[in-house]
Amino acid sequence: MKIQFWGVRGSIAAPGPDTARYGGNTSCVELTTSDGTTIILDGGTGLRVLGIDMLKRPRRGPLHILISHHHWDHIQGFPFFLPVYDAKSKLIIYPFRKGAKEELFSLLDQMDGAHFPVPHGAVPASVTLEEPKGDWRIGSALVRRIPTNHPGGGLSFRIEDQGHAVVYMTDNELDPPAFTTPNSKLADFCRGADVLIHDSQYTSSDIVGKRGWGHSSVEQAVEFALAAEVRCYAMFHYDPQRTDAELDKLAERAVKAMEKGRKGSTAVAASEGLVLEVNSSGVRLSGTAAVRS
Ligand SMILES: [Zn+2]
Ligand SMILES: [Zn+2]
Repeated sequence: MKIQFWGVRGSIAAPGPDTARYGGNTSCVELTTSDGTTIILDGGTGLRVLGIDMLKRPRRGPLHILISHHHWDHIQGFPFFLPVYDAKSKLIIYPFRKGAKEELFSLLDQMDGAHFPVPHGAVPASVTLEEPKGDWRIGSALVRRIPTNHPGGGLSFRIEDQGHAVVYMTDNELDPPAFTTPNSKLADFCRGADVLIHDSQYTSSDIVGKRGWGHSSVEQAVEFALAAEVRCYAMFHYDPQRTDAELDKLAERAVKAMEKGRKGSTAVAASEGLVLEVNSSGVRLSGTAAVRS
């Protein structure tokens, strides 16, 4: 499997000189399975940049879009995703929780003529909805899901392919006022994953007073990743105020804590352009200047 990060920021896009290296675009991750199938995790503003790249690619199969939940920072890129305006595109969206109609509202009805000039009914791409009942297959991968602890609800996805596993678990509060899913169950869901992409909005010092906001600190995520015996914790969904210099320091500490906590484990701070190759030789990093290993 190949993972490419197109947007790693939480809450709101945060461009500017202090965020240029890790990137200011909101949540969007592309996962390519071993048979070349494209799975897109969330449609934040990073999806716009992915769309530009996709139109340069010679061949495109169906694009499978999984949305963790419908807060703005996870859907806002969709109206600006160029494949939507290409009649050759086939988009498959997997709506959950509230039924297809309501999910469709969240993703496409921001294109209502008032919030965005082109109404979604006028887009040339083929857009279909599929509602799997349990675990399901996308290309060579098996996809599982579990509810996260987040205001308004959310989902985490585990994608398994050729004996490897990647978990996308953003917007998850590891110390919430009330649990939707207990941490022990979430840890079992993540157990042994090669890569765990986890919410890293805060630090132990700035999370104070933010209980119930639906996010976690890097320190909490490290502890959780170690308990779940994951190989690589990928820091993700940063506070819009978090500077590149702060992220460098946080990443250094997370790498040390993961390597000390469990033999063979490590961490990386996701940044726009970062590529993680997951195969039998481990997790290999490439693709971006922000990477410090
Ligand atoms: Zn978010
Ligand atoms: Zn959210």
